[in-house]
Amino acid sequence: MAETKDALTGLDRYEEFLRKLELEIEKMDGYRIAIIYTDIKHFKYINDTYGYKRGDALLKEFAYQVTANNPYMLCAARVYSDNIVMAGRMVDGRTNSDFRDIIHKRNLELEGFLRDKYLDRRLKMCTGISIISQDDPKLDPETAVSNANLARKVAKELDDDNCILFDRKMMEGIKREVEITSYLSTAIEKGEFKVYYQPKIETSTLKVIGAEALIRWQKPDGKFIFPDEFIPLIERSGQIVEVDYFVYREVFKFLAQRIQENKEVVPISVNVSRVHLHKMGILDYVKSLFEEYKIPSDLVEFELTESIYIENTEKALELVEGLHKLGTKVSMDDFGSGYSSLNLLSKLPIDIIKLDKVFLKESTLQENDKIIISCVIEMARKLRITSLCEGVETIEQSDYLAQIGCEIQQGYYFSKPIPQAEFEKFMSESLQSKAEHKN
Ligand code: C2E
Ligand code: CA
Ligand code: CA
Repeated sequence: MAETKDALTGLDRYEEFLRKLELEIEKMDGYRIAIIYTDIKHFKYINDTYGYKRGDALLKEFAYQVTANNPYMLCAARVYSDNIVMAGRMVDGRTNSDFRDIIHKRNLELEGFLRDKYLDRRLKMCTGISIISQDDPKLDPETAVSNANLARKVAKELDDDNCILFDRKMMEGIKREVEITSYLSTAIEKGEFKVYYQPKIETSTLKVIGAEALIRWQKPDGKFIFPDEFIPLIERSGQIVEVDYFVYREVFKFLAQRIQENKEVVPISVNVSRVHLHKMGILDYVKSLFEEYKIPSDLVEFELTESIYIENTEKALELVEGLHKLGTKVSMDDFGSGYSSLNLLSKLPIDIIKLDKVFLKESTLQENDKIIISCVIEMARKLRITSLCEGVETIEQSDYLAQIGCEIQQGYYFSKPIPQAEFEKFMSESLQSKAEHKN
């Protein structure tokens, strides 16, 4: 007969647990069953620091504490490693969220106990709960467990809550994530991704002196999926590297073609995801693009957000230096959008500072914002860093920026991000009309 118990913890094996749970669901009569899926955050740290013996002892204790002396428990198993799942009968009259509160409190107690015993303050329980009730369309055991596991993953990402109830919205979020990440490569192949260009305007002449390349994903039905929706997902999966490389190649291709046709060219900036800092293949890739397309190196610029510099100053510096060696300029994007980093500005060899659009949130600038913007621009000038303001939407904002000496402007007032052909037209048309309008 196949072994039904887990040798280490004495709990059921997962297959046995599912079998028992199925029977429990069939027997269910007027009550609910809660699936409680828990793991220990930083468990690996115990194994690595104190050895496997200590890790095993902790797991045994954990399994015991979670399941022992619990009159409501129906069955429990170790799914793998430090993941333990338990099914329990829910006492009537208690709401799902009351129940969550009880488990939450128990987790805190257990955490305290295990922390004292195993001398590790970082130990933390993460629990997801899903509830099977009779009014639900019949839920199979595996789905119920996977729902609880999903809620556990959400709990693990949060700092201050270690116990989360599953709800349907989580499912939709995950479905969307899977939809996007599994289809991404195909979407690139099918040409659903396009690079749009948003012109950058020189304040003193009101001429186009560059553009930012921004990715656009247009589905065959014409609908756009915007970067703010899909980029966080593909950053998590690592696929942003593929998308960024696609953008870089398109930009190089575009510039090389214009040069070949003897047309005017302006520097184009591209965005660099934080994910590149993990592998740093980006430098070789960019180098190979310069070799392949043979365009002058000052025609491409790289934008790294302020948060990248703050999170990982050393790696960011390495990347900036690598890009400088290739002859390209580097900017600090979204400056002022997070915790600011004035001290970093003096330390990092940045060429351009892009003030985030938060400073221009009101069409008429507030006095306080004016003070900050003008000081940052003054500081940039003294540090010999080019200043650029993003998100310029009104003539008032644009005039104010001119008054305080902001060198470059970018925003809807001049143009939204537009397809390549439109940008080429934009470049060739004189901005005279705008200049006249302003005078
Ligand atoms: P970002 O780098 O800060 O890009 C500027 C964003 O501001 C763009 O949004 C642009 O359309 C928007 N914008 C420009 N002018 C105005 C304005 O006057 N008013 C307002 N309200 N918004 C304006 P988009 O294209 O939706 O991109 C959002 C973010 O997604 C970008 O922020 C960037 O962080 C990321 N992103 C876009 N394309 C790429 C890419 O190819 N690679 C990477 N890694 N990230 C990208
Ligand atoms: Ca940018
Ligand atoms: Ca920006």
